[in-house]
Amino acid sequence: MGRDLRISADVAQLLPAGVLGQLQATIDDPDNVCCVCEELISGPSAEVLIFTDRKAATLVKLAHSGCMRSGVRVTPRLREAIDAHAQESDGFAMATKLGLRVSEPRALIFLEPEVLTGGIDEDPLQLYSEALGLVPIAGSIEDIELVATDQFSIELIEGGLGLCAAHGLETVPAEASDLTKWLGAAEGRAVVIVARGLGLRRPRPTIGEALALRPSWGAIAEVASGTS
Ligand SMILES: [Zn+2]
Repeated sequence: MGRDLRISADVAQLLPAGVLGQLQATIDDPDNVCCVCEELISGPSAEVLIFTDRKAATLVKLAHSGCMRSGVRVTPRLREAIDAHAQESDGFAMATKLGLRVSEPRALIFLEPEVLTGGIDEDPLQLYSEALGLVPIAGSIEDIELVATDQFSIELIEGGLGLCAAHGLETVPAEASDLTKWLGAAEGRAVVIVARGLGLRRPRPTIGEALALRPSWGAIAEVASGTS
């Protein structure tokens, strides 16, 4: 408990309060990855790094204290790199979770980026969401207003579900028993929601809070026939 989050003065100046809060809330999660060596972060401390092009793009990352010290690293062309990355199927490492609600469509899929990214003018997560035909949503999970998207379909793949879009595949791993129950409730349609701060990797996700407080995107997508 209580891994020390090391934040240099220049990082502190640029870091939005919401992102700081999220870092503090998730710093002890076992699956934080070092952006330098890509190994899991263990040990008593982690460094907060900001990569920025000093214009539109900012990327917040963590590193081992032995790999890189906290600081602001100016990275020209970061905006272009993020844009290009957001369009790729593996552009964001996503935490995923299946859920069910009372309202129809009942079946839910949540996606939360594992890397904290935040643009100053434009949000790379928004680009990701728009590529899937998702639109901004707000409110409680039972009564959010939703549109339908045909930008992707949900298909059964080995080990779970796949969101199959023209630009690639997002995989949603699931246990077979959970999947059977989920598919039974889906009846051919599911709500897909993308947001930060859902807490999908934590024992108690904070989905309601995230939908109320953070930019969130969602839509209803078809679950391809032959998968139930
Ligand atoms: Zn490292």
